[in-house]
Amino acid sequence: MGSMGLAIVDGARCKPRPGLKGACPACGRTAIARCGDLNRWHWAHAGRRHCDPWYENEGPWHREWKQRFPLDMHEIVHFDHVRGEKHVADIRRPDGLVIELQNSPMDIEEMESRERFYGEKMIWIVNAERFKSQIHLFDALPDPDADFVADLVFFPPHPLWVRNRASTEKGDGSGLMFYRRSETPPGSSMVAPHMGREVIDLVRRHYVGHHPCLWKKPREVWLRSTRLTFLDFGSDEMWVVRRYGPEKLFCLQRASKQALISSILDGKAPVVASSDVSFLDSEALKKRIFR
Ligand SMILES: [Zn+2]
Repeated sequence: MGSMGLAIVDGARCKPRPGLKGACPACGRTAIARCGDLNRWHWAHAGRRHCDPWYENEGPWHREWKQRFPLDMHEIVHFDHVRGEKHVADIRRPDGLVIELQNSPMDIEEMESRERFYGEKMIWIVNAERFKSQIHLFDALPDPDADFVADLVFFPPHPLWVRNRASTEKGDGSGLMFYRRSETPPGSSMVAPHMGREVIDLVRRHYVGHHPCLWKKPREVWLRSTRLTFLDFGSDEMWVVRRYGPEKLFCLQRASKQALISSILDGKAPVVASSDVSFLDSEALKKRIFR
């Protein structure tokens, strides 16, 4: 049975309380407050399933995220009058920004149809706890928008680096390798490799939290999403999925969870960068994800 965080009672959006009966905000069918001792209090949607096929049953991760936002932003029904479709957005700001909280795996088709439905004004927040052990981050990359970066092509991380390099990484970009477009004749497959330490000073000045990344058995869907996608590993820091440079090197960028939440509450564009962008060595990087 579909479980929800709120239902309509006497025209108002309500959390479950013992004995209450309400209506699903999307389809108007009956919702019954389930307030037992064993399970968290919730609303049970009439019928076997929730009326919105995109709706995920609320678990602790969902609830924790939702309670950071006022109730009148929760579970907002979003209409697309042209398509005649409606869906329930997890969080929707009055200006239309939709925050989709994704806890369980999702196929690419569904991701694409949700992005189409909600349009440009949406972000994803993904529960990444379950796959965090498959993610390995490497040394710092400079801000992709810095002028000097246009000439550099960083080598993608190799699986062997996980074993060989992780322990020697300083986190200042010196562990990476790159070649220069300006030194590479057009059409040539020969490149002259450079060591990251040649550009340490530039990386230092232009580091905004990017790290190349290897993802064993990646959830392909999150490499394909075209909206801002925040991975939540359960710590204070979140990581935004990024494609770096024209080669679209897969990397993650640090983001502050608190700054993201504040920006959403303040009606601003979602803040992506971390408030602290000091370098992290490989040990510190691991802690950011695994603590
Ligand atoms: Zn319904």
